[in-house]
Amino acid sequence: MSVALDAPLDTTFDYLWLAPSPDDPVPEPGQLVLVPFGRRKVVGMVVGTKKDSEIEPNKLRGVIQVRSQLPALNQQWLALCRFAAEYYQRPLGEIALPCLPKGMRTESTVALDRALKKLTSSHPAREVADRAPAPQLNPEQQQAVASIISAVGYQAHLLFGVTGSGKTEVYLHATELLLQREREAGYPAQVLILVPEINLTPQLEASVKARFPTLQVVSLHSQLAEGERLRHWLSAHIGKADIVLGTRLAVLASLPHLKMIIIDEEHDTSYKQQEGLRYSARDLAVWRAHQQQIPVVLGSATPSAESWLHGASGRYQRLRLTQRAAANAQLPTVRLIDTEIDKASDGFSKPMLDALRARLERGEQSLLFLNRRGYAPVMQCEACGWISNCRRCTAFMVLHKPERRLRCHHCSLELRIPSACPTCGNVDVQPLGRGTQRVEEYLQQAFPGARVLRIDADSTRRKGSAQAAFEAVHRGDVDILLGTQMVAKGHDFQRLTLVGVINPDTALFSQDYRAGERLFAQLMQVAGRAGRAALTHSDATRSEVLIQTRYPSHPLYRALLAHDYPGFADAMLAERQAAHLPPYSFQALLRAESKSLALALSFLTQARELMPHPGISMNDPVPMTVTKVAGIERAQLLLESSSRAQLQSFLKPWMQALRAIKTRVGWTLEVDPIDI
Ligand code: ADP
Ligand code: ZN
Ligand code: ZN
Repeated sequence: MSVALDAPLDTTFDYLWLAPSPDDPVPEPGQLVLVPFGRRKVVGMVVGTKKDSEIEPNKLRGVIQVRSQLPALNQQWLALCRFAAEYYQRPLGEIALPCLPKGMRTESTVALDRALKKLTSSHPAREVADRAPAPQLNPEQQQAVASIISAVGYQAHLLFGVTGSGKTEVYLHATELLLQREREAGYPAQVLILVPEINLTPQLEASVKARFPTLQVVSLHSQLAEGERLRHWLSAHIGKADIVLGTRLAVLASLPHLKMIIIDEEHDTSYKQQEGLRYSARDLAVWRAHQQQIPVVLGSATPSAESWLHGASGRYQRLRLTQRAAANAQLPTVRLIDTEIDKASDGFSKPMLDALRARLERGEQSLLFLNRRGYAPVMQCEACGWISNCRRCTAFMVLHKPERRLRCHHCSLELRIPSACPTCGNVDVQPLGRGTQRVEEYLQQAFPGARVLRIDADSTRRKGSAQAAFEAVHRGDVDILLGTQMVAKGHDFQRLTLVGVINPDTALFSQDYRAGERLFAQLMQVAGRAGRAALTHSDATRSEVLIQTRYPSHPLYRALLAHDYPGFADAMLAERQAAHLPPYSFQALLRAESKSLALALSFLTQARELMPHPGISMNDPVPMTVTKVAGIERAQLLLESSSRAQLQSFLKPWMQALRAIKTRVGWTLEVDPIDI
């Protein structure tokens, strides 16, 4: 029988099955088996049971053990993995096995058996909590729910709703009605809800559980402890979990009774895995829904260019929520502060400081957004021009003042802060620019009585600390919340009436053609944290978003002022179409890594010349923007085609030819790259 193993070889492996006793059933596809591999024993997955192996049976090694305590992964799940493997040009085993929790893949079955026992043993009747009340849906929400649940078979719905418009309510109502309908018809049913951020799962999990106290709700994300992850995964796999809530990896969960998929904040780049198997969970979710002929809901206030295009062409059904849902909640007013006129010192213009002070006086919360962690992005010696370059990367060492370190965010190298310039001995080495730590320090001086809380990757390293920090904000123990994109997403802060954006301009002039799309989404998201509830009915406290910029007439900011995403998105699509960029073209990126940049580039040149490529344009191999990381030089070759099918049919033989090249250069292929 053929077995997929987690090995970088694009093949499955043949093994012999000898039944221990004559009436033992032959393992079926999707079943896990323990097999010998080299000198080890590894867990693999049966993918075919045909007997016509090319190897003589007496030369085949035998299956050691069948994990018959587990139901086989079903055909549809295997088909999903097969599709992902083919589409992303990876061996099947590198997809189907690593996505299983560790406890299913180890030689010992102790953890697995224990988890299964726990799941199947009958519990004493759980005390059922009261169901949290559901608000009466407004007409737009009702219409969205009705469209979603009335669709027959596969249908993708693009739920385009402004921030705070009550998309979550739409998800919950649709979920409830759909589960109810299936149950009444006598079918088991499961719903998968994907969210972009681990930090958002507790909030959503709590509301889902409160709303559906009698249902089994489990979460799946990378920060679960192994045992928990195993139990949750199995609960979905054996059909016990009704609702699975998770981050991108949950798209590959086994859900035998899947009846609907919801993707919240579908535009979010966290849905793209950026290492190993570089898949898009959003794209796989849509494929999965199509394969299973079920509805999929993609929700966002700023849909991705791809989804916007499908919405315009009618491939996705567009559903709109145009108003904030909560009574008296209003979209915040967006104001631009022209820093050519209102000069910023220490990062703050006077209007920004005034607005902060007014919130402090009224006892309301403010949020400041600065997407740069650390104290200062670089240190410099003014006497000789020395700057804090990382010796291993094409990048600066970032000053982290509280930790008293220079840190490279690319290779994690850490150094003590130099007390004098390493080249000329000048003692006056200065930080240049500002990150969240520096802004925090400034705020503490400028507003001595204020409770300032910084939330970024550095302040939340300890497990549970991010959760605790967000709870403090929700409780009202914080006056000024300051943070990176971690604070921008999804949180339903009720007391917040001011959002300040300190320095967004750099993204306007980025090389990356997606930078504008991302900046708009980010600003819209962070702006959306303000004014989610009506604190008072007086207009005086209407919430505000203040953006400091040197380019107040830039079209992106003009669209933002008007809360006009459609206008922005249509203009963006027109530009992309004119430039033959995604979503009007399809890309793949070959990356090469080597100690020598010349070697990496020459490998890419060789790859480029390897075979004819009609209909596919290959760019010149170029060094990556951050060329060197941890001493390794990196270069890339971009492929483009106006046809996805054409690109796909080229990639397969090309990959085979690439694998045959003997080289010391490390390389990977990414399909549909988003960072190029
Ligand atoms: P979104 O996900 O679209 O940003 P949320 O789903 O977080 O918005 O909803 C924003 C707020 O509006 C929440 O506090 C929610 O409880 C409230 N809300 C949603 N729908 C309604 C409704 N129909 N009536 C009153 N409040 C609502
Ligand atoms: Zn110097
Ligand atoms: Zn480095």
